[in-house]
Amino acid sequence: MTMPWADLPCYLNGHLGRLGDARVPVMDRGFLFGDGVYEAIPVYGRRLFRVDDHLDRLGRSLKALRIEDPYEREAWLDLLRSLVAHLPEVEDQSIYLQVTRGVAARGHAMPKDLEPTVLAYTQPMHALTPEQRHQGLSCVTARDFRWQRGDIKSISLLGNVLARQVAADQGADETLLIRDGCLTEGSSSNVWIVRDGALLTPPPGEALLEGVRVRLLQELCEELGIACNLRPIAETELPTADEILLTSASKEVAPVTRLDREPVGHGALRGKPGPVYAKLYEAYQRAKRLQSL
Ligand code: PMP
Repeated sequence: MTMPWADLPCYLNGHLGRLGDARVPVMDRGFLFGDGVYEAIPVYGRRLFRVDDHLDRLGRSLKALRIEDPYEREAWLDLLRSLVAHLPEVEDQSIYLQVTRGVAARGHAMPKDLEPTVLAYTQPMHALTPEQRHQGLSCVTARDFRWQRGDIKSISLLGNVLARQVAADQGADETLLIRDGCLTEGSSSNVWIVRDGALLTPPPGEALLEGVRVRLLQELCEELGIACNLRPIAETELPTADEILLTSASKEVAPVTRLDREPVGHGALRGKPGPVYAKLYEAYQRAKRLQSL
């Protein structure tokens, strides 16, 4: 379902309106400095998925920026649920929420006692198509030249924008980022590889964002009896991986079947989505039904 973005419902500083009518002053520090944080929360059957994990991470990002969380948990939940109800026809949605430090005279140091600017809107979810899932995604690798605090979900996304464009320029879907010879993450996703039946992803730390789906996939692996290890992944392990997967709120769990133009995997499964992906995808669909609140 496509809907003009201007007609989407949004809350700006507690006021409900149309996204196309929402305005913030040009002196907002989000506009001047990218001084803010965000979350993207999936909604299935009009119920929020893993919302506590998203709001916990929002709290961590705000704390890192020394911005006070503008709402208590229950107030966040009320606001998000009310937003979902304002797209009544749409079962699966994606909520974008952003908190910036607020409006002040320009100066790098943090002004005291600002009122944070809070924006939240919802839109129909843009899920991967069955065709994309069948074919798998294509990725390219590039040097991770972003700042060193990838754990903060900052709205300053220029590094991620430039990284994604490396893929876009080659007609690929996502860019896998390499720092000091090791995989960090994708431009807007976490990256996993399968080796000898075990699922691997780099451990959370300052270099990358701890995706909400990192813990979820660990739980699903536990349930399915798949070994799952968080350990550094050398760049050289990517071309020889049995499978490569991406996770994010919008991609859920997705198979990567081409890396730097070469097919991923071995034997009959070369260039095709693999069995670990298939099991995780099925388990993910179950989790969506069971864990949405
Ligand atoms: N890393 C980056 C840089 C991202 O932008 C995202 C998407 N928010 C992720 C990882 C995956 O996080 P999540 O599973 O919470 O969507």
